[in-house]
Amino acid sequence: MTDYQDQLITILLKIRLAFSMQTLSEADTEDLLIRQSLVWEEILINKIPINDLNNCYIKAMRTRTTTFPLTPQELIMAYNEITAENYKPQIYECVFCKFEIKTKGEKPCQFHKRVKDTL
Ligand SMILES: [Zn+2]
Repeated sequence: MTDYQDQLITILLKIRLAFSMQTLSEADTEDLLIRQSLVWEEILINKIPINDLNNCYIKAMRTRTTTFPLTPQELIMAYNEITAENYKPQIYECVFCKFEIKTKGEKPCQFHKRVKDTL
């Protein structure tokens, strides 16, 4: 069993508990969770890093409006939202006038670049 599967089993168990899903025998639950974790892993493995899985689960559970059990697609949507929220465009400044520029390496702003080129 991979660490990723292990983390998914923890989440899948929480989903079962959160949705008050039918209780099975311990052996059946374990068997089901292992099989479910394989299915979820195949979908999520290259989409969500292992350390973000639980945050995605929590975000999805807090924001969803349906009472159907959580799906792996909802974790991907939550992950996309989390990464979009954390994305801050890098701002650089012109070395001459502190005008904001967006491209690294383009140290002077367009105005000062033109001035510099004519020198
Ligand atoms: Zn400038």
